[in-house]
Amino acid sequence: MNLIYIIEFLIFIFIFFLALFLLKIKKYKKIGTPLFLLVIIFIICLGITFCFEKPQIVLTPENTILEAKVDHSIKTPFAYYHFQDVTKQVEVVGTVDYNHIGSYEITYKIPTLFGEYTQVQVIDVVDTTPPELTLEGDINYKQSYSKEYEEPGYSAIDTYDENLTEKVKITKEIISDTQTNITYTVSDNSGNIATKTRVVTIVDDIPPKITLNGSSNMTLLVGTTYTEKGAKAIDEKDGDLTSAIQIEGSVNTSKEGDYTISYKVSDSKGNEASQKRNVSVVKEQLKARMGEDGEPGVIYLTFDDGPSSSITPKILDILKQKNVKATFFILNYNATGEALVKREVAEGHTVAIHGYSHDYNSIYQSVDSYMNNITKLREKIKASTGYDATITRFPGGSSNTVSKFNPGIMTKLCKEVVARGYKYFDWNVSSGDAGDVKTSQAVYNNVTKGLSKSRANVVLMHDFSGNTKTLNALSSIIDFGISHGYTFKNITKNTPMVTHKPNN
Ligand code: ZN
Repeated sequence: MNLIYIIEFLIFIFIFFLALFLLKIKKYKKIGTPLFLLVIIFIICLGITFCFEKPQIVLTPENTILEAKVDHSIKTPFAYYHFQDVTKQVEVVGTVDYNHIGSYEITYKIPTLFGEYTQVQVIDVVDTTPPELTLEGDINYKQSYSKEYEEPGYSAIDTYDENLTEKVKITKEIISDTQTNITYTVSDNSGNIATKTRVVTIVDDIPPKITLNGSSNMTLLVGTTYTEKGAKAIDEKDGDLTSAIQIEGSVNTSKEGDYTISYKVSDSKGNEASQKRNVSVVKEQLKARMGEDGEPGVIYLTFDDGPSSSITPKILDILKQKNVKATFFILNYNATGEALVKREVAEGHTVAIHGYSHDYNSIYQSVDSYMNNITKLREKIKASTGYDATITRFPGGSSNTVSKFNPGIMTKLCKEVVARGYKYFDWNVSSGDAGDVKTSQAVYNNVTKGLSKSRANVVLMHDFSGNTKTLNALSSIIDFGISHGYTFKNITKNTPMVTHKPNN
């Protein structure tokens, strides 16, 4: 309610009762009459006030500066006029687009007794929110001195201007040798600024490099001396750190076993490097023995991967004709093969175990799988011929590297087969007939050039199917041996082993 109505009403009441009072007192009757005139004037004034009263409009929101892209959901203003709620009569002219910055005029209109009352509200839609600046990666960026700085990325999204990533300005400030500050700044179109700083610290994270003097895998015979050859250490930043290398571990050469010597060094920034040297202390059997402790001038012809129905019988024929005994390292065989194995035994040759299977991936899986592979064939030979084969040759030889998928397996097996009472034989003369040798002349040349009078000679050949080059060279090889004073023998339990050094 308007205050003016209250004041006018109170004055009216006051004058009315004052006039009433004065009219009752004869002495003041003359004053009472003009006072009543005044009352009438006040009634007229009240009427005029009522007629020209302005409607009252209460606007929402009171704040007329509003953030863009925000739903402010402005309500219709509350309005009253002549003590009545006239909100429903308010006519609103103009709209505000909160999605666009600008100044908007809204006019509110209410009909009055003598026309129309209007009230104008100005609403400014503004963007006062800075863009949201996001840095990818670590804000405390560690950069290896050996690498270029690679920007991990950033983005700037503004509620009003949307994607401002391309407007991001990057400034680099070199603080020190090891620190650079990268500042990202972006401003939206309303001048709101966002800024962030990435601290790039250049670090030395490259460890020194240790290089062992001598081999990282050593094999020593029991009873010999281990000499520590040390190592060298170079760091890109700190230079030569050789003197700082810490060597740990020792080798007891009086005891068979695998020993590890470790070499450790740290650079001034604490980057550690380490290397290991594996030293195997072994008994005699793991050392290569290339026939030097065997019978000099003896030739042991050996045939692997048989028997084969096409080659083996003809080889046996030649051996019989030349009266030479040989050694056959056989694989699993069928019924035809069984007859050949029986013939080999019957004609005085040595039947030896190459393996039931030749498949490196299965036989070198474990000590057990290898031992099963030779035991299975040993039992079969025994069942076929009554002969107990205890001479073996590892498929690929004891020096093979095809078993590297199982580190150390050959070293273990070389010990294991001997521990189980077998003797294994590698070779010191190779015909090359399982490799790239194509002609019988080449087989002949390889064998005859490989022979030596000063040691025992174990000649590697094959009697697998189709190996005619060896078959055709055999007579000439035997003739060469005989004419040069060699003796041919088959390998027996008493033949000193001819072995390679294991490479795995
Ligand atoms: Zn073989």
